[in-house]
Amino acid sequence: MKYEIMMSCGHEDTVELFGKEKERDRKIEYFKIHGLCKECYRKKKEEETQKEGLIFNATVLPYINEKDGSILLSVWFSGDTKPHKDEIKSLGNYSWSERESADDWYSFQLPTLCWNKIIKLDSLEEEIIKATSIGAKSMVADSGLFAEVHYRIALERQKEWREKKEKIDLIKKPAVPEVLKGCTWNQKIYGKAGNYSIYPNGDKKLITDEQAEEIKNYLTLKEEYRKKVNEIKNA
Ligand SMILES: [Zn+2]
Repeated sequence: MKYEIMMSCGHEDTVELFGKEKERDRKIEYFKIHGLCKECYRKKKEEETQKEGLIFNATVLPYINEKDGSILLSVWFSGDTKPHKDEIKSLGNYSWSERESADDWYSFQLPTLCWNKIIKLDSLEEEIIKATSIGAKSMVADSGLFAEVHYRIALERQKEWREKKEKIDLIKKPAVPEVLKGCTWNQKIYGKAGNYSIYPNGDKKLITDEQAEEIKNYLTLKEEYRKKVNEIKNA
């Protein structure tokens, strides 16, 4: 049922109430004493946000950077972000998208949108300095059980990554033939004995039979190397 109630702020507002009559009456009484109309509520929230100032938040993500094993963080702004929108954008790579706090990962509620981005742990300090430079007043680290769990998962993944990296570093990488050093090429040898050629960086180059042999050998070793690395990576 809808009720017109004179709120505590002195403005009338329409409120929809459910439940038993006694329960509804109780709520109406509450609104009269403590309730705010929608406009006053909005203003109050706005004032609170302004008072809060700009807040920089960070949480550890439950995965790592597979290329270099870095622990990753999601960082975002909360609080009084509206007047800082352009400054936030100017910091680089921030996008208006779903917040990724640890609790958000396991929440069934609609996602909360915010200015956020993913960074490596070792650039956190730099990002904090940047955030401070546009007026961030406080830095908040995500806390709670889920945040703790994510951090542990990240550490575990990093440990596995390092162990694999150590094994991969032990495998001998085949030496690149002199003629191909620093070049990109399509990994094809053209022609026949006495008249072999390749296209390093897209330019035709005649090679000797010995060079062709060396390159063929290199390709075989490279394929073996790739297989061994993948075996470790997928273990
Ligand atoms: Zn009001």
